[in-house]
Amino acid sequence: SVVVRFAPSPTGYLHIGGARTALFNWLYARHTGGRYVLRIEDTDRQRSTEAAVQAILDGLSWLGLDADAPPVFQFARAERHREVAEQLLAKGLAYRCYETPAEAEARRAAQQAQKLPVRYDGKWRDRDPSEAPEGVSPVIRLRAPTEGETVIDDLVQGRVTVRNDQLDDMILLRSDGTPTYMHSVVVDDIDMGITHVIRGDDHLTNTFRQAQLYQAIGAALPRFAHIPLIHGPDGAKLSKRHGALAVTEYREMGLLPEAVRNYLLRLGWGHGDEEIISIDDAIAWFDIKDVGRGPSRLDMGKLENLNAHYLRQRPNAELLDLLDPFLAKAGLEADATGRARLLAGMDGLKQRARTLVDLAAAAAIYLRARPLPLDAKAAGLLTDEARDRLASLAAPLAALPSWDEASLEAVCREAAEAAGIGFGKLAQPLRAAVTGSNVSPGLFEVMRVLGREETLARLADVTA
Ligand code: GLU
Repeated sequence: SVVVRFAPSPTGYLHIGGARTALFNWLYARHTGGRYVLRIEDTDRQRSTEAAVQAILDGLSWLGLDADAPPVFQFARAERHREVAEQLLAKGLAYRCYETPAEAEARRAAQQAQKLPVRYDGKWRDRDPSEAPEGVSPVIRLRAPTEGETVIDDLVQGRVTVRNDQLDDMILLRSDGTPTYMHSVVVDDIDMGITHVIRGDDHLTNTFRQAQLYQAIGAALPRFAHIPLIHGPDGAKLSKRHGALAVTEYREMGLLPEAVRNYLLRLGWGHGDEEIISIDDAIAWFDIKDVGRGPSRLDMGKLENLNAHYLRQRPNAELLDLLDPFLAKAGLEADATGRARLLAGMDGLKQRARTLVDLAAAAAIYLRARPLPLDAKAAGLLTDEARDRLASLAAPLAALPSWDEASLEAVCREAAEAAGIGFGKLAQPLRAAVTGSNVSPGLFEVMRVLGREETLARLADVTA
């Protein structure tokens, strides 16, 4: 049965492209009833950090991409990687290469000068080890086939072929005995029983050499699926100037994990024209062979649209909890009264918000202490004449038997009629007084949520 893995290198944040790779692996495992595991490729000791491991784990858990086993740490398996290299050496399928760094340098320069491809020339491939120079620690290279070709039937890219004489003998162990990345990946994938390697197509060229190593080890090739990278809206390779790259940045932008997940799913994979795809449908429908070959483009507008949809789907109490850090960042505080108002007003607030950042900003109308700051448009609406009219609303509002939206609207309509003005002429300044802004959820909804006392106090603030 299917076993897939996500194999990030913990050298920075969890990249949005990496998150999509993880999602595709996870979905494929869920779709096939297989297993999805995580392998932290921490063999680069200089660049791997504990913080990056944590960022990757956090990002994946935020997206709900739970693995079926504890993560495998690649560096911890270095002894095993050495062992496999030694076995290949013993079988004559690998050899010690004593090319010194200076010789390698000279060879590369010569190859460049002659406009030849820069690759190892196989000098030590068949040389007698007794010729080994004193004091040089050798690297171990694979004795790769020099004839024929290596073929990969990629589930996304189709059949790709390279002539073996175009590949040099890859290094398995460096002169200090540490395994190379290429070697570790293959040994781990074999030992972990990986059946499908789903990863970015930037790894496609590595795959030929890796396939040669599988052959030498005598292991069956997994199926490969190299998915096109994500590009920016302008079609160029995704980079910082296109916006957020780290999954944590998406969280900080106030996006919901289910929206990001749905969006990533649609980057390179589709099911007809469906934009909104539940996780259950995604599991039912996802197949790796339906991933497109063309690069996909990041479109923040689309992502925010999806987010707006998922915001509206979330229960209000959950939204309130999610909102907390965003309120704090917006300099707002929700005490018990504030929280009760937010809960009562959430239906209206969430209709207009695209992100939790928007939602926090909109929540200000229920949380700001009096007197409310008025924005420029609100201030403009509150002319002397308008303030006088609002002042005369206080008594009927105070006397209203029931503080419900229909009664509130009736009072205001009567007042406008009595003053001989259109309803909007009264309602607009009223909204400005009650919310400090000229845009808000429904006016009477806001008044209901604020309650009589707070509404009258806000009115008094602008009419006194
Ligand atoms: N560790 C590699 C990376 O972060 C992935 C290797 C693989 O998936 O085979 O790009």
